[in-house]
Amino acid sequence: MTPDFETQLRAVSLRVTRPRLAVLAALRDRPHADTDTVIAMVRAHHPTVSHQAVYNVLRALTDAGLVRRIQPAGGTARYESRVGDNHHHIVCRSCGTIADVDCAVGEAPCLTASDDHGFVVDEAEVVYWGTCPDCATARTSQ
Ligand SMILES: [Zn+2]
Ligand SMILES: [Zn+2]
Repeated sequence: MTPDFETQLRAVSLRVTRPRLAVLAALRDRPHADTDTVIAMVRAHHPTVSHQAVYNVLRALTDAGLVRRIQPAGGTARYESRVGDNHHHIVCRSCGTIADVDCAVGEAPCLTASDDHGFVVDEAEVVYWGTCPDCATARTSQ
């Protein structure tokens, strides 16, 4: 079950480099991390890797399809390595915590558009908004 990052990189014709491996490991440990979090996690183990290098790696991995970039309205961009399954996200309005939600129907595009305007739809991006358990608890105990 442990994803083999080197195999993943080679499969999309990307060279295996230490920063790329470090970013993939960071996203495995912390799905939906924002850029600053990824930079902090990578630099904790590899202090010589620059901020710009992490930005570049995130862009290269996203372009190659190994990383998915999500950006809930009003929030910063987040990254995750769970790709290709068209899963959705639930976002806490209060603290910004994000969790994965599997497709409601089970396969992409999950929802059938009431009018697809002639497009071939291959993905439905759904964001559920609400209050996470921690924030709900904090609110009732005030
Ligand atoms: Zn919350
Ligand atoms: Zn996700």
